[in-house]
Amino acid sequence: MKRRQFVTGMAAAGVAGCSQDSMECADGAVASRETFEWNLVTSWPPGLPGLGIGVENLADRIEKASNGRLKIKVFAGGELVPALEVLDAVSNGTVQMGHDSAYYHRGKAPAAQYFTTIPFGQTVHEINAWLYYGGGLELWRELYAEKFNVIPFPAGNTGVQMAGWFNKEINSVEDLQGLKMRIPGVGGEVMQRAGASQITVPASEIFTALQTGAIDAAEWVGPYNDIALGLHKAARYYYYPGWHEMGPMLQCTVNHDAWNSLPADLQEIVANVCQAINTDMMAEYTWGNAVALEQIKADPNVELKQLPDDVLRLLKKLSKEVIEEMAANDEWSARIKASFDDFQRIVIPHHEISELAYLKARQL
Ligand code: CA
Repeated sequence: MKRRQFVTGMAAAGVAGCSQDSMECADGAVASRETFEWNLVTSWPPGLPGLGIGVENLADRIEKASNGRLKIKVFAGGELVPALEVLDAVSNGTVQMGHDSAYYHRGKAPAAQYFTTIPFGQTVHEINAWLYYGGGLELWRELYAEKFNVIPFPAGNTGVQMAGWFNKEINSVEDLQGLKMRIPGVGGEVMQRAGASQITVPASEIFTALQTGAIDAAEWVGPYNDIALGLHKAARYYYYPGWHEMGPMLQCTVNHDAWNSLPADLQEIVANVCQAINTDMMAEYTWGNAVALEQIKADPNVELKQLPDDVLRLLKKLSKEVIEEMAANDEWSARIKASFDDFQRIVIPHHEISELAYLKARQL
């Protein structure tokens, strides 16, 4: 009997045919009874819709699918380790698992940003396809094995984000001059080149920074998460689209040694549940964002606006410059960019006559 059939059969029929201690069965297949208790740290505020709930689901599903053999305790950002040091904690073995964003770690690995998002990059469909079918995941794992001793899994996506909350109207490229904006990653570097000041503020402090005028603008995620932080009460103008984060991937990371300690069937469960969460989180955001947008549109103190085309054109031009400089200065970025660009060259023409053409047709 093949291992997969054995595991399935065992779940359905108990441990028939297996000895008490090792669950060694008549055909010689062995299922370990060893149990594992792991800690998982995240970058997210406790109970945050989408990101936070997704990780709770991940832990529950793994525990259920493994029949309690792998229990995972989830910690919100700052509870066990600082919110932006999740990957370090997984890397050095302080914890076994983490959930955060690759681009938080661009200081140590600039190329990691490709595995969250780069400005004017991939939609959720494109990044999933690149990672699972276009060689992206192999590159990601190779980079992380070399830099961090961890194994990354795609584990959630927010879909197209918003450009952010602004307390100043943006009518032209001149309006970006001197704008103090919270915006991380390559997007922040691009805004800086457009004349704005990039400010780093953790999620939990965005509301106060905007409300007190310490910053003029901030991007976080989209309606679902932004309402949860109360950002609609701290700024008037809500701009779209999220040119800087159009399909950002979340990562689940597992310490390499912890991974190797798991029997093969538990490894399979972790991998499959990560993939399930990847789909599930996107579905939660699609619905949650739509419902929250209704609420925002009904709020007389908020104006929903699209960034002007000339602003988007400038941001696109500057994004290309920043991304090319990254590739010129970092071997890993050059290698990953080549894979990313090759993939996009093939995928974009199809998406123009499928996703894009349909969305336009739907508006006729
Ligand atoms: Ca964001």
